[in-house]
Amino acid sequence: MERLDTNYLIIGSGCSGLAFADTLLDQTDADIIIADRHAKPGGHWNDAYGFVRLHQPSAFYGVNSLELSDGTVDQIGLNQGMLHLASGAQVSAYFETFMERHLLPSGRVRYLPLTEWVGDGRLRSILGGEEREVAYRKLVDSTYYGTTVPSTHRPKFEVVGDARLVPPNVLPALWKERDDVPSAFVILGAGKTGMDTVAWLLQAGVMQQAIHWVRPRDAWLLNRAKLQPGLANFEDSIGGQLALMTAWAEASDVDELFEKLEAANYVLRIDRHTRPTMFHYATSSRAEVDLLATVETVIRDGHVKRIEPGRLVFEAGERGSPQMPCSSTAPRLPSPAIRLCPYGSTTGSPCRWSGSRSRRSVRR
Ligand SMILES: Cc1cc2nc3c(=O)[nH]c(=O)nc-3n(C[C@H](O)[C@H](O)[C@H](O)COP(=O)(O)OP(=O)(O)OC[C@H]3O[C@@H](n4cnc5c(N)ncnc54)[C@H](O)[C@@H]3O)c2cc1C
Repeated sequence: MERLDTNYLIIGSGCSGLAFADTLLDQTDADIIIADRHAKPGGHWNDAYGFVRLHQPSAFYGVNSLELSDGTVDQIGLNQGMLHLASGAQVSAYFETFMERHLLPSGRVRYLPLTEWVGDGRLRSILGGEEREVAYRKLVDSTYYGTTVPSTHRPKFEVVGDARLVPPNVLPALWKERDDVPSAFVILGAGKTGMDTVAWLLQAGVMQQAIHWVRPRDAWLLNRAKLQPGLANFEDSIGGQLALMTAWAEASDVDELFEKLEAANYVLRIDRHTRPTMFHYATSSRAEVDLLATVETVIRDGHVKRIEPGRLVFEAGERGSPQMPCSSTAPRLPSPAIRLCPYGSTTGSPCRWSGSRSRRSVRR
């Protein structure tokens, strides 16, 4: 078995692992090995759906020694007037450039793509299968956040028969199926990926009536206008921080905290009549939230347990209140429909609480 020797063995070449390597390179003389399952650096961005973007300004993202943002302010679209949000392709290209032009030319970094850390000081080549032993001074596990995206994990619910269930990655390729384009779309999930998907469909010309959105819980969203760096945005960004600290100091519970933050325009919600019960640090704009609010069929019946052709069955115990019409616990869906599944994706550190129960309803 081949034996490798290094000061730092970093598992993962996503943003966390690369940012750590960048700082090591800058502040030490250490020798570094970076191993990753993926074929290219960039972590989960390798698996993202085609229309993904950062949801915070590019200026906040990336490694210290290489700027991702070029300072451009978007002139059009849902982010108009705010600093550019790099697309997934731009983020991937950025990490590749960083690897090729900064890390590898230093002569102190060895990068092992398509290589899995299997523990016990061993790395395994995913395609070749052979194992290598690594002697290291420090092991850096940058996989700690456990970021997952829909295209790489299995749904937690059952899919029966020929129900058509796909991750959002499939959408941009629907043009190839011109004769089989679905007449309706059912979106599962109220996180950032679900929101991106609904906004993308609406912007792609799908009528809101053709969208059915399963939102087990609504989310509070950070207002991107309050997160703009630079002197020109001083009032909004520092004013936003002031509002945040004031709300923390004055609120007596979590519900009141978010009421104050909403009054200060620091957080947004899609439905004014539904109190959100989750906050995953997803960031959005007023224009995007207004667009998402145009979808009228929102199914608030808990998590999906099973998908059958034309029918959704929800988890027992998380169904709507008894006075809910029966159909709301297993709504019939227009057929043929395509279900888009941002199930369980995470975009930040979860922050959950037991606030007031949200109104569960099927609005039609
Ligand atoms: C759609 C989306 C949008 C986001 N937008 C923003 C944003 O705008 N701003 C922001 O700050 N954050 C954003 N995030 C949060 C994002 O999770 C982090 O910013 C960051 O990209 C996470 O990087 P990471 O290195 O921790 O994880 P990952 O990118 O998941 O990288 C971990 C790497 O470890 C590898 N790995 C895991 N286990 C092993 C093993 N056993 N052996 C070898 N390799 C292994 C994986 O292959 C992967 O490449 C977003 C997240 C998502 C999903």
